[in-house]
Amino acid sequence: MKKIAIIGAGISGLFIANLFKENLDYQVTIYEKNTSINLDEGYGIQLSTNSIRLLNRIGFNTLDNKDRFNPEKIDFYEINYEKKICDLYISDFNSENCKYTTLKRSKLVEFLKDKLEDNIIKYDHNIEKIEKNNNQIILTFNESIKVVCDHLIISDGVFSKGKSLISNNLTKPTYNDSIAIRGNISRKNLNNLNEKNISLFMGNNFHYVIYPVNNDNEAFNFIGVLKYKLTINELDNYGLFKEEGFIQSVKDKLQNKISANILDNLNNIKCFPVFVSKGYLKPGNNIFLIGDAFFAFPPSFAQGASQSIESGSELFDSIINNKNNFYENRASKVKMINNRSKLNQFAFHVSNPIIVFFRNFSLKILTKNKKFLENYLGKIYKN
Ligand SMILES: Cc1cc2nc3c(=O)[nH]c(=O)nc-3n(C[C@H](O)[C@H](O)[C@H](O)COP(=O)(O)OP(=O)(O)OC[C@H]3O[C@@H](n4cnc5c(N)ncnc54)[C@H](O)[C@@H]3O)c2cc1C
Repeated sequence: MKKIAIIGAGISGLFIANLFKENLDYQVTIYEKNTSINLDEGYGIQLSTNSIRLLNRIGFNTLDNKDRFNPEKIDFYEINYEKKICDLYISDFNSENCKYTTLKRSKLVEFLKDKLEDNIIKYDHNIEKIEKNNNQIILTFNESIKVVCDHLIISDGVFSKGKSLISNNLTKPTYNDSIAIRGNISRKNLNNLNEKNISLFMGNNFHYVIYPVNNDNEAFNFIGVLKYKLTINELDNYGLFKEEGFIQSVKDKLQNKISANILDNLNNIKCFPVFVSKGYLKPGNNIFLIGDAFFAFPPSFAQGASQSIESGSELFDSIINNKNNFYENRASKVKMINNRSKLNQFAFHVSNPIIVFFRNFSLKILTKNKKFLENYLGKIYKN
């Protein structure tokens, strides 16, 4: 029986562990640096059909209907005039058992965690050293805990320490000149938008998205991305983003970008800098990277979690079938998504009125053009 060690119990690590646990040729263990998995937060996540199809393999379709939502459309608005520009039928990519889904991130993580035996996750294990000895890998956690494994899967997120260790600190994520603002808002504070859809508002160097996270239709998720320059010192001070003063200064910047009705009624606001990958690492042999540790995208295509799941599934298939095409396939998909994410962010944030006019005009046409949608979204949503 081969031993698989997974570093990090996020979406990618938990998902791939679920795939391996059914296979008796492998014994899987996840090493997580935190002492537990936080299931309290109420922020949302969007999952496109490519990841729902894979999640259904481990029973996601049995998740209580009340805990998830299937939006029909994405409604595009211009922030300036709170004017709807057009809509896109995201549900056109759905099939009977596989639908574009929004839910609370914590519900997804809870689902992935609860399907694993308790002893699969070893908490309070911070990876510190990765060494190779012939075909085996020796891991050191918390200074002295040694673990030997046959395959190592690094899934410890965008600031991956596992990736730093195997690359001698050569691959670091870069700041995307933007901060993400997360929050919740209740239905009674939302006017003039269709509560059954995802609403995307585009403005000057800022966009935000509001969507329901379950079928109660009471709690909605708010996620905004604001262009924001930060100094190296500010970036080094992660505590800064939690400070009341910093959150207030962000709210001040948003005064003329969001209607007061929304801004004043946002709850649980959290800000954090957005970091993205510039390239990817191919460690080779029996060490692999998945999820954000492999590649972190700008959040404007809502594919990070879906790609974390997809990369887990591809790696699982590659390991059990003894193939070595994981990196080639992954790299071409990552390239497609990264380009689309960057293009989306540019289009959502343009400020020049002439470009805005052409952006809106193109959006109206493209969101109804089946061939374009099949190419731009279909290629990503079908795996
Ligand atoms: C603002 C924003 C909005 C987003 N919205 C969406 C969306 O709507 N849809 C979507 O698909 N994606 C979205 N994403 C992206 C998505 O959240 C991520 O891509 C996804 O969570 C990555 O999962 P992961 O498992 O790779 O990493 P993570 O979820 O970061 O998990 C990493 C795990 O590794 C652990 N760890 C870290 N360091 C160590 C260590 N040294 N030793 C051991 N364990 C360690 C951590 O504690 C954590 O549990 C969004 C991202 C942002 C920034």
